[in-house]
Amino acid sequence: MKANLLEFDAPGMVGFCAAIGVKPFRARQVLRWVHRSGESEFERMSDLASSLRQRLTETAEVVPPRMIRDSTAADGTRKWLLDVGAANAVETVFIPEENRGTLCVSTQAGCTMACRFCSTGRQGFNRNLTTAEIVGQLWWANRALGAVHGAVHGRERSISNVVLMGMGEPLLNLENVLPALRLMLDDNAYGLSRRRVTVSTVGIVPMMDRLRDECPVALAVSLHAPNDALRSRLVPINEKYPLATLFAACRRYLEKAPRDFVTFEYVMLEGVNDSDAQARELSRRVAAVSCKINLIPFNPFPESGFARSSRETVRRFSDILNSAGIVTTTRRTRGDDIDAACGQLAGQVRDRTGRAQRPARVA
Ligand code: SAH
Repeated sequence: MKANLLEFDAPGMVGFCAAIGVKPFRARQVLRWVHRSGESEFERMSDLASSLRQRLTETAEVVPPRMIRDSTAADGTRKWLLDVGAANAVETVFIPEENRGTLCVSTQAGCTMACRFCSTGRQGFNRNLTTAEIVGQLWWANRALGAVHGAVHGRERSISNVVLMGMGEPLLNLENVLPALRLMLDDNAYGLSRRRVTVSTVGIVPMMDRLRDECPVALAVSLHAPNDALRSRLVPINEKYPLATLFAACRRYLEKAPRDFVTFEYVMLEGVNDSDAQARELSRRVAAVSCKINLIPFNPFPESGFARSSRETVRRFSDILNSAGIVTTTRRTRGDDIDAACGQLAGQVRDRTGRAQRPARVA
């Protein structure tokens, strides 16, 4: 079987070259062709010797997941649905803004975390994505946005930031996520700075430590509640890693993080976690960690059982936190007309856990 070159970070590519009898320094050139130029045909890698091109043709291929659908929202947000085989598909979202372009990448087909307000969580879980499937999202987006092949070079069209905030829990797939992160940072591949690559986690404490040690990038943690009782109802994994444990892990992470704060994500659910008293409680609790808070207006999906907090409520909540000295921003809802907003990514998951069959539960 041929090797899929999208699986390899730089050390992996060196190892592969050695295995097929190619000088290790060629690895760099191959990486550049595959990722920077978005090239999948070895014959077109014009500055490689023809003997090398032939060796690669015999032993390797560049296979991203197949693109099923490409949709563009009224606000310019773009969403791609990618086939990852066996009737599973995942989604990738590009969010253009004035001074940056953010790609939101999926890491699993489905998710095991079952957060009550998340549509991916509702779908159940099939499997972890491979490194090639994770990197393949970036590979496709780069091509589609015209960042390669010289099609379009408009600044607003290219990817300046990557967030692992799509479908799945990245820290439960760290084995495959780590090489993907290294490629995002590698100058021969996507060349992003550590500060512009963000892993978002529900708070898998031991894996936060591993990420810190192996590839520290910006960290976002999904908090969603000011205390353990409510958080355990919304985010079941809180039973295993309660707030005190989670905050301690955040502090350890910050020792090596490229930014000097953690971003806490907080989805605003009407009448559930959005009262003034909860804002004050939250401000007291998070004082333990150098952080910013990002409020996410809840994005509804069928039968979620939750409603979005009103703008007024979100503004008050934010004001209370800001006056307590905690920098708080509110995420603008993007791409909701194509179901590309936070928590709306559903792709297509052949659930193996039976979760999708269970009736919806209201927290
Ligand atoms: N598993 C990771 C990353 C995926 S979710 C994590 O939990 O952080 C990315 C963000 O979207 C998380 O903060 C998640 O809680 C939030 N989210 C999930 N469902 C949502 C919804 N319906 N509306 C708004 N945000 C949601």
